[in-house]
Amino acid sequence: MTDSLLSGPGPDPAGDAGHTDAPPRVGFFTDTSVCIGCKACEVACKEWNAIPEDGLSLTGMSYDNTGSLGASTWRHVAFIEQSAPPAAAQAPAPEGRTELPLAADPPAAGGEFRWLMSSDVCKHCTHAACLDVCPTGSLFRTEFGTVVVQEDICNGCGYCVPACPYGVIDQRPSDGRAFKCTLCYDRLGAGLEPACAKACPTESIQFGPLDELRARAALRVEQLHAAGVPDARLYGHDPEDGVGGDGAFFLLLDEPEVYGLPPDPVVTTRDLPAMWKHAGAAALSLAGGFALSFALPALLRRKGRR
Ligand code: SF4
Ligand code: SF4
Ligand code: SF4
Repeated sequence: MTDSLLSGPGPDPAGDAGHTDAPPRVGFFTDTSVCIGCKACEVACKEWNAIPEDGLSLTGMSYDNTGSLGASTWRHVAFIEQSAPPAAAQAPAPEGRTELPLAADPPAAGGEFRWLMSSDVCKHCTHAACLDVCPTGSLFRTEFGTVVVQEDICNGCGYCVPACPYGVIDQRPSDGRAFKCTLCYDRLGAGLEPACAKACPTESIQFGPLDELRARAALRVEQLHAAGVPDARLYGHDPEDGVGGDGAFFLLLDEPEVYGLPPDPVVTTRDLPAMWKHAGAAALSLAGGFALSFALPALLRRKGRR
């Protein structure tokens, strides 16, 4: 495997994985500025993929009952309560859509207050470390450029879990097998959009060819900036970032850390070739030193006998 396949811009992940005549790469653009926290995406995902229930008690911190992505939570809707500057309290709706208030009405005592809601998911990275480290081929790159894990092949080794820079993929405690969003691979194969995108009533989750989504997202950021929401920014859209860009990227209204996202993710296998090179050089020097430690005394003994 070459360095270029482990990091850097990767315009054709499906082609790199050996798919010929692959369709355009698809993904998600999640526009959190119009998310209303209804959790229809979580429910649709569970229903379509027959994912077990993972606890119905609220965390006590917010209206969140799942807390994070996990083996049984392939979509997670984060609820973040935040004091907000007035300018960021109201995001305009996209063209032709209903205006959605982001501020609590009336504002909480002591100032402006807003909810940030965001439906998180596997990023279907251009350079997916989970896939790089999987020894069984359970994780694979599909013809759509997405990353899928096959539960019937996973042996429960767990290598993929620390490899993921976003903390997405997770093992089910009952048998150790790893699970995550498949971007509804079965639905894509039948020409359907993923269940979560289909269920989202506000089109916060948009599915489609990645190039189109990136162009649409850039326009949406411009619209928000023009409307006085300067904190609107894209996350995971840039092919030059540490994972070569995400197949599932986001429009956020604050820093990524606020949403529990790493600010500067890097594919964890990026430095493997250099590490192997250094390990190889170290092993060679050790072997040389070892050989010399035997050869040198023998040479000296022979010289002494002459
Ligand atoms: S986000 Fe994590 S689990 Fe998803 S493709 Fe990237 S490395 Fe794999
Ligand atoms: S794409 Fe499918 S598997 Fe992935 S989060 Fe959406 S509904 Fe779940
Ligand atoms: S992403 Fe859509 S379906 Fe999910 S909580 Fe937000 S508005 Fe509801």
